Amino acid sequence: MASKRDYYEILGVGKTATDDELKKAYRKLALKYHPDRNPNDKTAEEKFKEAAEAYEVLSNKEKRERYDQFGHAGVDGQGFGGGGQGMNMDDIFSMFGDIFGGRGGFSGFSGFGGFGSERSRAGARVNKGSSLRIKVKLSLEDIEKGVEKKIKVNKYVSCKTCHGSGAKEGSESTTCSQCKGSGYITQVQRTILGNMQTQSICPTCQGEGKIIKDKCSACHGQGIVKAEDVITINIPAGVSDGMQISFSGLGNAGARNGVNGDLIVLIEELPHEEFERDGNNICHQTYITISEAILGASIEVPTLSGQAKFKIEQGMTSGKVYRLRGKGLPDVNGYGKGDLLVRVDVWVPKSYSKEEKKMLETLQKSENFKPKPTAKDKSFFDKMKNMFS
Ligand SMILES: [Zn+2]
Ligand SMILES: [Zn+2]
Repeated sequence: MASKRDYYEILGVGKTATDDELKKAYRKLALKYHPDRNPNDKTAEEKFKEAAEAYEVLSNKEKRERYDQFGHAGVDGQGFGGGGQGMNMDDIFSMFGDIFGGRGGFSGFSGFGGFGSERSRAGARVNKGSSLRIKVKLSLEDIEKGVEKKIKVNKYVSCKTCHGSGAKEGSESTTCSQCKGSGYITQVQRTILGNMQTQSICPTCQGEGKIIKDKCSACHGQGIVKAEDVITINIPAGVSDGMQISFSGLGNAGARNGVNGDLIVLIEELPHEEFERDGNNICHQTYITISEAILGASIEVPTLSGQAKFKIEQGMTSGKVYRLRGKGLPDVNGYGKGDLLVRVDVWVPKSYSKEEKKMLETLQKSENFKPKPTAKDKSFFDKMKNMFS
């Protein structure tokens, strides 16, 4: 056992540490290395056990005296595990009752919960409000910038009459006598592996630890009522249709001063007149005149935040796609921005005047207007590639 670390050193306290200091030091370590917080982490588990063993010895006056006098040799074989093998997890967990005021003191750890609700420091059950689901319709402009939305909702809020307690004014809620306020009852069973503790929700108070004698008439003892509320949420830029965003604590209030549930926002993207979305890219179609296609032009197209100009080269072929970098939507995770893809088609008029007809017939005779496609113009696949040049 020469390799064993000093118990005071493990807990990080001095030799003269008081019981309170020991308890605090141990509590800190137990929370830090708790297996529920460090799943499948052997090192954490060893540290967790080590701290429990150190605390188990030092918190016992007799064992501490022996340890102070004889070191590990004075206490080995005396502990839960015996023979210096350390304690097993069940031993450690059964110790928690003294230190944390019951298993429930480990609020939020799955290993101790199983009640479907959170637990307060005192151990009793805390009701968690249900999730509130809403749909938010967003334009591409909203999505491009990110948007703050104020939304009117009907949800459970704390009852004003009883301030959420559920009790009638002047009537105090009393500590449950069956579980003495802990919210659960413990039974010890003998098994071949030793004593097993099982805990279940107290049937008298449903795990809340308190009993309300006279219920508030406004909320029928629930501590919550349905009311209209305005919720302000910030929706990040780059979200997309069907995405769900969870806002912790903005959902329904929990019964009898419990914790709030979450708000789950489903994003619905509104169709846009000018643009179609493709991932983070935005697609837009525009037309130019026949003469612009022949002579080249500078054209202007709408973007999600204004206008953008670009040049059409002389002799453009209809259906060409121009890529305006960074004019698309921002990535929701912040990885840059998409592009604006503009497909440019040549507008062919459906009617013409006599004069126009004459002009066109003249042009038609010109050698320049006769089709002379190059191999590139003929290749369908090259054209497809060109669409994203
Ligand atoms: Zn009430
Ligand atoms: Zn009870």
